[in-house]
Amino acid sequence: RIIMAFESSADETSVAIVKNGNDILSLETATQIKSHQRFGGIVPEVASRHHIEQVTILADAALTDAGLTYSDLTAIAVTFGPGLVGALLIGVTAAKTIAWAHNLPLVPVVHMAGHISAAQFVAPIVYPAMALMVSGGHTEFVLMPNEYEYIVVGDTRDDAAGESYDKVGRTMGLQYPAGKLIDEMAHRGAVTYQLPRALMNDGLLDFSFSGLKSAVINLKHNADQRGEALDLDNLAASFQDAVLDMLLTKTATALKRYPVKSFIVAGGVAANHGLREGLQALLASHPEITYIPVPLKLAGDNAAMIGAAGDIAYRHGARAGWDLNAKPGEEFAYLEPDMEFHTP
Ligand code: ATP
Ligand code: FE
Ligand code: MG
Repeated sequence: RIIMAFESSADETSVAIVKNGNDILSLETATQIKSHQRFGGIVPEVASRHHIEQVTILADAALTDAGLTYSDLTAIAVTFGPGLVGALLIGVTAAKTIAWAHNLPLVPVVHMAGHISAAQFVAPIVYPAMALMVSGGHTEFVLMPNEYEYIVVGDTRDDAAGESYDKVGRTMGLQYPAGKLIDEMAHRGAVTYQLPRALMNDGLLDFSFSGLKSAVINLKHNADQRGEALDLDNLAASFQDAVLDMLLTKTATALKRYPVKSFIVAGGVAANHGLREGLQALLASHPEITYIPVPLKLAGDNAAMIGAAGDIAYRHGARAGWDLNAKPGEEFAYLEPDMEFHTP
């Protein structure tokens, strides 16, 4: 199976060709970060315009790079949601057009399934599996009892972890997106500021990051009022310490509650060095669980991960019609109160 995949849900236009769900034959990505940076976040109309300019160029480059023609392809996969509607529509339209023109099946992919499936480039996912999906828009535990089954068993009640990095970064005067920079600063700094953690002793798998964000904003405001300067490296270290404390505590609870065979960390924040180290240490006490962090370079948005998820979806018979539409609010289903999880 050779799948050409499209990703355009946010500010990355990306096309990849992936063989059998675990082998990247080509990956072409155009990032628009520079166009959005001066606005401190993604401007939807600007994003759509960039996607339109790039998508066919990248598709051609992906084929050339892989040394293939359209007749070599098995299927076309595309992210149809969630994301910015105008941005998603460009990828969906490009994928539909190519699939129709070359008589190829069209496979719909949920963006988070893509992030999680990037684990397949490291090791085969053994089921039942659990993923900590941490990105700019999501912070959730996704339980996968079997392949192609995704159930949310814990979620953030307010900001996503990546969003909190970006908002705290803005308060600290850093450029968007700030996650990588705060991660680097945190490694230079020391934990000197006391910052709050939320929902730590409730035994639930939900998160809340807005209190932490507000605490940093107040700290900065009060320092400004007094004319004092904050030590930004130490602030970054203190903030990251609080985020990791919450993520790791909940992960420990999740692994106790759900006896899975593999654990994946995925999404843009999975590039965080502190998080990767913390999870490595935590999983060391769970030798029965295979720990699969997605590759550092494939943690953020890219089409290779959509090719990996597309391969799974294709094998499970997922096919979209020519009426496939962008679904900006698409989400995985939540665990219902009467649903029980049993290990097979
Ligand atoms: P979603 O996947 O939920 O739709 P998204 O696609 O916008 O959201 P990603 O592109 O997966 O999000 O991830 C981007 C986020 O990851 C940004 O918030 C960014 O700050 C954060 N991030 C990137 N690298 C790091 C890092 N090293 N540490 C912490 N956060 C990071
Ligand atoms: Fe993403
Ligand atoms: Mg992104």
